[in-house]
Amino acid sequence: MKKRFFKKLEEKLFLEKEFLEKEIKNLEKVPSFGEGKFSDEKEVDEAEEYFTYLALKEEMKKRLKEVERALDKIKKGNFGICERCNKEIEIEKLLANPATKFCKKCTKK
Ligand SMILES: [Zn+2]
Repeated sequence: MKKRFFKKLEEKLFLEKEFLEKEIKNLEKVPSFGEGKFSDEKEVDEAEEYFTYLALKEEMKKRLKEVERALDKIKKGNFGICERCNKEIEIEKLLANPATKFCKKCTKK
């Protein structure tokens, strides 16, 4: 029962990993700003947009790391165990975020 549940989560994590890797690659293709001739106003817009891209990319890279870590834990057999108190993480919490590291109690701390 639990094994099957974990298998489902593993699939979910795997799909998320693929999605993130693709998105990050796409974001990496975004040309850097400052190329070409823009008016000052345009340049500010471009810069803002660029920083939004950067932030988004960082966010996605962070998430990708978490997802990879969770997949690694499945391989090692310690998936679903809270990293703080070593107790089992609640199933609904894993469903909401399979890459979660802590149980409900420890998340609140
Ligand atoms: Zn805990």
